[in-house]
Amino acid sequence: MQGKGLLVGLGITIKHFFRKKETVQYPEEKLPMPETFRGGKLVLDEKKCIACKMCSMACPNKALDLTVEIDENKKRHMKKYIHKSGRCLYCDFCVEACPTKAISWNRDYEISCYHKDELTYDAVENNRKDDTHE
Ligand code: SF4
Ligand code: SF4
Repeated sequence: MQGKGLLVGLGITIKHFFRKKETVQYPEEKLPMPETFRGGKLVLDEKKCIACKMCSMACPNKALDLTVEIDENKKRHMKKYIHKSGRCLYCDFCVEACPTKAISWNRDYEISCYHKDELTYDAVENNRKDDTHE
């Protein structure tokens, strides 16, 4: 029958039109990243962090530069937690090495930037910024 191919094609199109969508209209819509996604910025929970530096020791590419201060009671405090994402392999060794689960990824995949400086990020400073915005 003439035009059969057209009808079959239309049938397939209509079927797909009403099916659940597999894609989203990025950047207006974004898919949530799974728990296992490694990427974005490292978030430091300062309440959990004991400033042991196990994370930076586990880093194979020297992407973590930490500054620790010891107070008069000999308690260690994290002063700077610099993550150089330009050096980061996103291997997750730092997260796995942390004995108190104080670091995690913010799972933001929109981290492209124009300047190299923007690839360096202080998680402690970022916590201060978040506190002042609250
Ligand atoms: S993910 Fe790997 S390379 Fe990146 S900071 Fe952690 S240990 Fe270092
Ligand atoms: S390993 Fe964990 S507790 Fe130790 S300094 Fe790093 S983030 Fe803090």
